[in-house]
Amino acid sequence: MTKSRRDAIKLILASLGYALNTSGAATEKAQITASKKIVIIGGGFAGATLANTLHALDNTFHITLIEPNKYYHSCPLSAEYLVGKRTKESLTFSYRNLSNLKSIHVIHDTATHIDYEKKTILTKRSGSHSYDRCVVGIGVGYKFDSIEGYSPEVSEQLPHAWSGGEQQAILKKQLMSLRDGGTVLISAPSGDYKCPPGPYERASLIAEFLKRNRRRSKIIILDGKSDFPKQELFEKAWRELYGYGTSNSIIEWISSEKGGIVSAVNPRNRDILTSAGTIRADILNIIPPQKAGTFAHFNDLTGPHGWCPIDTKTFESSIKPYVHVIGDAAYAEMLPKSAFTACVEARVCAVAIYCLFNNHPIPCPQFMNVCYSLCAENYGISVFLRYERNTKTNILDIKNLVKPPLNSTKEDYRKESQFGYSMFNTMTAEAFW
Ligand SMILES: Cc1cc2nc3c(=O)[nH]c(=O)nc-3n(C[C@H](O)[C@H](O)[C@H](O)COP(=O)(O)OP(=O)(O)OC[C@H]3O[C@@H](n4cnc5c(N)ncnc54)[C@H](O)[C@@H]3O)c2cc1C
Repeated sequence: MTKSRRDAIKLILASLGYALNTSGAATEKAQITASKKIVIIGGGFAGATLANTLHALDNTFHITLIEPNKYYHSCPLSAEYLVGKRTKESLTFSYRNLSNLKSIHVIHDTATHIDYEKKTILTKRSGSHSYDRCVVGIGVGYKFDSIEGYSPEVSEQLPHAWSGGEQQAILKKQLMSLRDGGTVLISAPSGDYKCPPGPYERASLIAEFLKRNRRRSKIIILDGKSDFPKQELFEKAWRELYGYGTSNSIIEWISSEKGGIVSAVNPRNRDILTSAGTIRADILNIIPPQKAGTFAHFNDLTGPHGWCPIDTKTFESSIKPYVHVIGDAAYAEMLPKSAFTACVEARVCAVAIYCLFNNHPIPCPQFMNVCYSLCAENYGISVFLRYERNTKTNILDIKNLVKPPLNSTKEDYRKESQFGYSMFNTMTAEAFW
């Protein structure tokens, strides 16, 4: 093993809180005996970070990354795009840099089936790909049938815009052509979903846009929950910036108890049926309840909750051996579904795979999540969480939770927004560069 390889491994392990002795001739010997074919399904934050990390750990792995799209469209910071503060290009990442790495082969295709007996992945166009270990990072799917009248087809017209790409462009267009006095409605789901504070960040930046450009308009959040992440921080920002809690508030939040649960939608007249009656809005942004992506369901990787149960030490599926699931599709109880945790899970999984191929003991991982949300220009709020893995229950217990105090200064909030941008740059660089 070369010195630079050892250094790269140590750096990755250190970032995960591991202290593993990675030197030793036994490691090299074990590598030679294995064929080391890794197939990664899905090139999002999870899959791309995994490919990059495995390559850094050992560039003699044969890594095949299967991803249908030529470009990845980031959801983090997409709220800025929706309101015209950021270009689409700044959220778009190509797989070119990953393909240029010696051990990584990127195939633009859709995986359809896993043959667990033969250890092969079948795809739509490029035939089958054999694996020693397969890693599934396919993100979320949507429970369209939980809202009567909503469907993938209707979502082209009433976009949820929760998966990046074309739907975000449609929602942006609708926002830009909103009449003054018009109403925007966001429905936030209950249950586990991608980016728990995301609907409230989106609502905040839309409110900022309305305040500047459509002074008579307002935004309503219909919530399937009785509370939401960083609620006291968001509400403080909304009070200061958007008159929240007054009769002139730009933002109205309706909890599940007060009628926030959406049961049906009529796309023709843009009516939405809630537990408290019917609401009509100019823009309906329905974010449906979620589950693991379709591929996971077709391939029997999901549990009764709709997500993929895994061992939190390795992210190997608890249902199918030699298959790991990382990112939003995985069921890592207590860990929110974010790009940050998707990247952490990818690194934990990469280290586990590296150790498995090298007959190394797998170290006990540590987890954290850092999440920044924007409430307006120069106004960001964060939450930091550190977890410890309970070896008996497989659950990640929260050990620390830090949020900015409610009496933070303007300068504190400005700094938080800047940290958010830095984190975006780091995460995307580690995944796609
Ligand atoms: C509006 C919004 C704002 C957000 N903001 C933040 C934020 O500020 N910070 C943060 O940490 N997180 C944020 N997130 C969450 C973050 O986007 C996700 O948690 C993250 O993208 C999860 O990564 P992933 O790789 O698991 O899934 P994805 O990023 O969804 O990637 C899945 C990939 O799998 C591919 N795929 C699916 N099926 C197949 C198949 N059958 N074959 C091959 N490929 C397949 C897809 O094409 C896709 O590229 C936000 C999310 C939203 C919606």
